[in-house]
Amino acid sequence: MVMKKYLRIALEVLLAVLLVAALGLAYWSFAGKKHVVHDLAELTEQLEEAQESLEKAMEEVQTSKEKVDRLEFQRHEADAIKAAFANGVVLQDIETLYKAQKSLTTERQLGLAAMRLLTKGADDPETVEAFQKSLEMAEWSSRLQTVCAAQNALLAAGKKVEILSECQRKPGAKEDSGHGKQEGGKKDSHAKKGGGHDVHWGYDGDHGPEHWGDNFPVCAKGKKQSPLNIVGPFEKSKDALSVSYKEGPLKIINNGHTIQVNVEPGSTLTVNKEEYDLLQFHFHRPSEEQVDGKNSAMVAHFVHKSKAGKLAVIGVLLNEGKENAAIKTLWNNLPPKEGEEHVPPKVKFDPSAMLPQSLSHYAYEGSLTTPPCTEGVNFYILKTQVDLSKAQVAKFPFKLNARPVQSLNGRKISAN
Ligand SMILES: [Zn+2]
Repeated sequence: MVMKKYLRIALEVLLAVLLVAALGLAYWSFAGKKHVVHDLAELTEQLEEAQESLEKAMEEVQTSKEKVDRLEFQRHEADAIKAAFANGVVLQDIETLYKAQKSLTTERQLGLAAMRLLTKGADDPETVEAFQKSLEMAEWSSRLQTVCAAQNALLAAGKKVEILSECQRKPGAKEDSGHGKQEGGKKDSHAKKGGGHDVHWGYDGDHGPEHWGDNFPVCAKGKKQSPLNIVGPFEKSKDALSVSYKEGPLKIINNGHTIQVNVEPGSTLTVNKEEYDLLQFHFHRPSEEQVDGKNSAMVAHFVHKSKAGKLAVIGVLLNEGKENAAIKTLWNNLPPKEGEEHVPPKVKFDPSAMLPQSLSHYAYEGSLTTPPCTEGVNFYILKTQVDLSKAQVAKFPFKLNARPVQSLNGRKISAN
């Protein structure tokens, strides 16, 4: 664009020079002749025109130069903002500034949340908290857009959130985080939630794993999803596991997606020096993980959470063989009703009865294997597999509740 303009100016300058030359020549050669006067007038006119368009062209060049400068400045500004976001300084400054104020507008709170999202990512618990806060602050009657934006952002971050019907994209569905975050055992995966976005998901048909991404974007777009097909070569696992599970009252629930045993506080997993609490364990049939492309009959997932909110899952692969005494206790006490925690009187259960002796494992970074497929979950699939009888497999109330294996996407699997 600019180059073209310069070319035009050059041509016009050339034209002007030629005109002046022709003018001089004409004047000196044909002085005194009538038609020369006429020609002279015409040439003068042309010269003036040429000069005018030359000025105009110069102006245009100046304007586009200014535009280019402005764009350049904006680019630098954007880079500066990006750089500031990257090291979190802007976020800190803004947070400090806002903290000093007595009250924040919803827009500012939402802005703060957005900045956290840019700086710390969606996995950061405080990002979620910030969006949650903006949601609480918003008066939905007048600020529906704010509410919808915050709700959808939370949903995109893989959080359990009630979506107002006004913000809904797909009515008549339901949401549930059956896998990772257990809520005091009172979670009812089929209960309608007040105000009700109702996101249903399952393992086949329109609600099967291929469609989870419609309502839970991380399930489709995540790059560190579970389960995986475990194949070598393996790196050396740097994680040393030790478990200290305690016996407690059996609390068992059929949440509509699996049989889950909720565990009272006190059972822990230590990974290197970090302690995790065992929240619950549950089953999948067949096993979600594959080893060398092969599924086991079932898998038990032990879900742990650290004080910092990190999740770690121990997977125990179960194969058809001898009867499993621990599973016998569980299956003998299956809940009579879906969606309610069943606490049979006087039945105690020790989760460690489910584990093999050796905790040598395959380790990888993955996600919840059920919606919302939240990432940042460390998986430890134990190498030693455990038996249960064919009849015990058949007694598990779900014929198929396993997510297919996901792409490795460059992740490394380690082993010890
Ligand atoms: Zn699981």
